[in-house]
Amino acid sequence: MATISENIQELHRRMAAACLRAGREQQTLTLLTVSKTFPGSAVREAFAAGERHFGENYVQEGLAKIEELADLREQIQWHLIGPLQSNKTKPVAAAFDWVHSVDRLKIAERLSEQRPAGLAPLQICLQVNISGEASKSGLAPAEVPGLARAVAALPRLRLRGLMAIPEPASDAAAQRLPHRALRELLQRVNAEAGLQLDTLSMGMSADMEAAIAEGATMVRVGSAIFGQRHYPSA
Ligand SMILES: *Cc1c(COP(=O)(O)O)cnc(C)c1O
Repeated sequence: MATISENIQELHRRMAAACLRAGREQQTLTLLTVSKTFPGSAVREAFAAGERHFGENYVQEGLAKIEELADLREQIQWHLIGPLQSNKTKPVAAAFDWVHSVDRLKIAERLSEQRPAGLAPLQICLQVNISGEASKSGLAPAEVPGLARAVAALPRLRLRGLMAIPEPASDAAAQRLPHRALRELLQRVNAEAGLQLDTLSMGMSADMEAAIAEGATMVRVGSAIFGQRHYPSA
């Protein structure tokens, strides 16, 4: 079995090849290493291989890992990429660097109020339900410009862009459609709301190439680095 470090090297080769095909500079793309369900020791291995951005889905698990890896805190950017309830905003505002899953003004207002004064502004992406799936969290595209304006005005946040988890599709052409829609939405929001958002958080292990072809600036990759996740059975 390949090691975490070998998987990371292989992933960077995939990212470089996809950037080359898209005529993009590699520095325009950041790898967000999704460490949910994997232990702190796995994060340390990825850190030793050079990774500095880590994504967690579950608030409690993320907070515990940030604490466990406190010795690396200054060098890591921690991203919350999973759902956030309003009763959990306070520890998130104090512990994370980014939140990708904001989809309501109330959550953003709480994060801004609760972001400790000594820290840099919390970096924010709005989560968009780009495939229009009934079961999925995220804003409808039409709601994005209004929320973007309101969130951009909050003092302790810095709105950076949009995040989506598109419906899985098997072929490359179908995979590109929702990613293209998110890119076009970002351009529209910037034009309509007078913003300069620079982040498209899109693309996972299975659809990374399609997302890069459509302009992803941050791909969120878990299983291609750490292997299959095993969820505790309910
Ligand atoms: C788990 C997860 C990922 C990573 O998915 P992989 O298929 O393991 O690469 C990316 N984004 C979000 C929001 C996730 O929950």
